[in-house]
Amino acid sequence: MRVLVIGGGGREHAIVWALSKSEKVKQIFCAPGNAGIAELAECAPIPVNQFDDLITYTKDNAIDLVFVGPDDPLADGIVDAFEAHNIPVYGPRKNAAEIEGSKIFMKDLLRKYNIPTAKYETFTDYEAALAYLREQSAPIVVKADGLAAGKGVTVAYSIEEAEKALHDMMVDKVFGQSGGSVVIEEFLQGQEMSILAFVDGETVRAMVPAQDHKPVFDDDKGPNTGGMGTYSPLPHIDPALVEDAIENIIKPTAKAMVSEGRPFRGVLFAGLMITSSGVKTIEFNARMGDPETQVVLPRLKTDLLDIVLASLNGRLDQLEIEWSDEAAVCVIAASEGYPAAYPKGRAITGLEAAKAQGALVFHAGTALTDGEIVTSGGRVLGIVGLGRDIAEARARAYEAVSAVHFEGMHARTDIAAKALR
Ligand code: AMP
Repeated sequence: MRVLVIGGGGREHAIVWALSKSEKVKQIFCAPGNAGIAELAECAPIPVNQFDDLITYTKDNAIDLVFVGPDDPLADGIVDAFEAHNIPVYGPRKNAAEIEGSKIFMKDLLRKYNIPTAKYETFTDYEAALAYLREQSAPIVVKADGLAAGKGVTVAYSIEEAEKALHDMMVDKVFGQSGGSVVIEEFLQGQEMSILAFVDGETVRAMVPAQDHKPVFDDDKGPNTGGMGTYSPLPHIDPALVEDAIENIIKPTAKAMVSEGRPFRGVLFAGLMITSSGVKTIEFNARMGDPETQVVLPRLKTDLLDIVLASLNGRLDQLEIEWSDEAAVCVIAASEGYPAAYPKGRAITGLEAAKAQGALVFHAGTALTDGEIVTSGGRVLGIVGLGRDIAEARARAYEAVSAVHFEGMHARTDIAAKALR
C-alpha cells in the first residue's frame, strides 16, 4: 500500500516509523514532514490545512490510504473532505473531532452521560463569567473553548490570575474566536495520566498508558509547553485505575458519541487526573498525543497498518492488539527560549551517534538546509530510550540526549523520575 501521513512533528515521525515496519506498506508519503521523516518517506511541502492540494497530491501519487496526525485539520473537517473523494482516511470526522475542538461540547457531553470530570460552568458573556469567577476560590481553571495550540488553559492559583486569563481570552481575544466562549472549572488535584485508544464507534482498544511532563523546566516549573517528555508504562500507578478509566470514562464516551450521532473513528486520547475521589477526565483529544505517541508506538507489537485497516473495515472488535513489556522514555530536546520565541536554523549534531546507541530519534522541528539538519521549531527532537524497565529506558534516553547537540538546546533532566521515586 501507498500511505500518506499528514503532519510534520515528532508524533508523525513516530507514526511514519511504525508504518515503515509493516510489510504491507510499499511507500510512505508525508505532508509536510520534516528532516527525520524524509529518511523514511517522500515529503511534500503542503500545509496540513490545504485540503484541495492534499487531495490532488493523493490522487497524483495513487495513494491508497491517508493517516491524519494533527488536531487542526481534523477539527476543520479534513476527513470529511477526503471521504467526499472516496479516499480511505483514518481519523474522526469533523462532528466527532469536536470532542477536542470545543471544550464546551466535550464538558456538556460528559455531564449529559454522567462521565466523571471536573465540575464546571460555561460562559459566552464576559461580565457573567467574571461575576461567577469572583464567587469562586482559587486554585481554579479557565479554559478557552476552542483550539489554542495547547495554550488555552490557565490553572490559576489566585482569583486575580484567573481574572487576567479571562480578560485575555474574552476581551483581548488572544486566542481569537477560540476564546470567545470559556469553561471555568474546578481544580483537580492528583497525578495525571494519558490513555490513548483506537476507537471505532463503540469499539475501544486502549493503548498502554503514558505520562507527559508539560512545564518547561525540572520539577514542573515554568510555563506549560506542548510536552517536554513522556514515559510508558506507569509502574507507580495501580493498573486498576487504568482499567477504571477505560471502563468508566473512555468506553462510555465512545458510546455517548454514537448516541449523539457522531461516531468516533480514530485515536481518542483521554487526559486524566487520578484524584482522591477516583479518576476524572481533564480533556479529550481527537488524535494521538505528542509526545505520548513517541513512547506508545515503540511498544506496539501489532502492525499499525492492520489496526487502521481493521477500523476502516469495521472489524476493530475482531483484532487482538499486542504490546511489548518493554519500557520507553522520551526526552524532548527543545530550542532556547521555547515555549516563547526561539531561534531557528541552528545546526544539529550527534544524531547518528544517538541512533547508534540504540535510541530512537524522532524529529519534531527540524529541516534540511544545504544538506545540513537544522532546528526549525520549538520542540526539535524526541529522543526515546527503550529498556527492560523505566530505569534502563531512562538511562538510555539520557545517554542519547548527551550525544546530541545544537546551540541553546534545552531538555528537562527529570523525565520519568516520578516513576522511580
Ligand atoms: P488541557 O489543555 O486541557 O490538557 O490542559 C493542560 C493542562 O492543564 C493539563 O495537562 C493539566 O495539567 C492542567 N489542567 C487542566 N484542567 C485542569 C483541572 N481541572 N485541574 C487541574 N489541572 C488542570
